[in-house]
Amino acid sequence: MCDLCYGTHVVYEIDSFFEYVYTCPNCGPEPEEKFRTRMDDLQRRIELVEKDFEKKGA
Ligand SMILES: [Zn+2]
Repeated sequence: MCDLCYGTHVVYEIDSFFEYVYTCPNCGPEPEEKFRTRMDDLQRRIELVEKDFEKKGA
């Protein structure tokens, strides 16, 4: 696995005030298919959290 991005194709660099996000120079841009899968997964997780929150709020 890539040491820079750990397979995410995205590298984060954080200094005291800013967080920079850029494409991994080793792996190149994330394939669109993989990006969509990740976004779908993220969306599912957000929905789960929202449902859980609604339950607790009721
Ligand atoms: Zn990489």
